[in-house]
Amino acid sequence: MAQFTKLIKRIGVYTSGGDAPGMNACVRAVVRTARARGIEVWGIEKGYTGLIENLMRPLEARDMANIIQRGGTILKTGRSTDFLKIENRKKSVENLNLNQIDGLVCIGGDGSFRGAMALWNEFQIPIVGTPGTIDNDLFGTDLTIGFDTAVNTALDAIDKIRDTADSHDRLFIVEVMGRNSGHIAAYVGLACGAEEVFTPEINTTVEKAVEKILQAQKKGKRSSIVIAAEGQKPGRAYDLAEAIRKKTGLDAKVCILGHIQRGGSPTATDRIIASRMGSAALDHLLAGSCDHMVGIDKNEIVQVPFEIATQREKKSSIDFVKLSNLLAI
Ligand code: ADP
Repeated sequence: MAQFTKLIKRIGVYTSGGDAPGMNACVRAVVRTARARGIEVWGIEKGYTGLIENLMRPLEARDMANIIQRGGTILKTGRSTDFLKIENRKKSVENLNLNQIDGLVCIGGDGSFRGAMALWNEFQIPIVGTPGTIDNDLFGTDLTIGFDTAVNTALDAIDKIRDTADSHDRLFIVEVMGRNSGHIAAYVGLACGAEEVFTPEINTTVEKAVEKILQAQKKGKRSSIVIAAEGQKPGRAYDLAEAIRKKTGLDAKVCILGHIQRGGSPTATDRIIASRMGSAALDHLLAGSCDHMVGIDKNEIVQVPFEIATQREKKSSIDFVKLSNLLAI
C-alpha cells in the first residue's frame, strides 16, 4: 500500500465503468463520512469523462437523502477512451488542482482501477477504490458492490421462468451476465437448482450437457433450466440451444436476462457492504493510505493494492458449479 503525507481537505468521488446497484449507497457513505470528519466533498460526473471535462460540483450530506435504496448512480458513470491518453489524464489533474481537490475515491471495476493507478503513478493523486461491479471479479474481496443484487434479480426472473418450463415440460437456457468470469452464473445456478451451468472457467461441452439433460429425462425430469454465462459473446445461449436441438431434437427455449441484472434497488447485503467500504475508503485517505481497493475478506474490511486487485485472478466459483451438479441428480 502506498502512503502519502499531503493534508486532505477536499476529496472528489466518482463512479466509473459499468453501473452496479449499491453505487449510490457507497457515494452516500463517502460523502457523509467526509462531512462528519469535516472534509469537503465534490462529486465528479460520468467517471473519467467528468474529470477530463471538469464536470464537478460540491456535495453536501443532505444531497445524499433518499438514494441508499436506488440502483444506478446519481453521479452517472461512463467509459472514456479519452482517458487512456496521457494528455487527457494531465488535463484531469489540472481540473483537480483548479478545484482544489486533494484526493479521490473511485467506485468502479478493474478498468476504473487501472485508470486510478495511472493517476497515482503518474501524478501522485492520492486515490482509494471501492469495488463497484456486478461481476464480482476483483481479487481480494469476497464480494463486490452490486453482485448480490444482480444474482437475486436473475434468480427472481428464473423462478418465474421455471413456472413456464414446468407447465410446458420445457428446457430453458437462461443467459446471465459475466463476460470474463462466471461468478453470477455459478451463484445463480446453485441458487435456482439448475440442471447445468456453463461458465468461462469450466470446460462443460454441449455433448456433456446434452447427455445430462437426456439422463435427467430418463429419470423422470420433465423440465430443466440450464444457466449460461454470456462469455465474450452475448447471445451464445442461442448457439447452445441450436446445438442441443441438432443433437436431440429438443426445442430448448432461450431467455437472455441482459441489462435487467444491472438495475433495481440494491439488496441489504449490497447496501451494507457499500456503506462499509465507502466509509472505510474515506478513512484510509485521511490516514494517508492510498493506491488500493477497499475489500471485504471474511467480513472484515481489508486494503488490497490496486495492482493485486486488478491483476491476480480471483478464485473461480467452480465449487459452486460442482455442488450444483451434484444436487441436480
Ligand atoms: P470497469 O471499471 O467496470 O471495469 P471499464 O473496463 O470500462 O469498466 O473501465 C472504465 C474506464 O476506466 C475506461 O472507460 C477508461 O476510461 C478507464 N481505464 C480503463 N483501463 C485504463 C488504463 N489502462 N489506463 C487508464 N484508464 C483506464
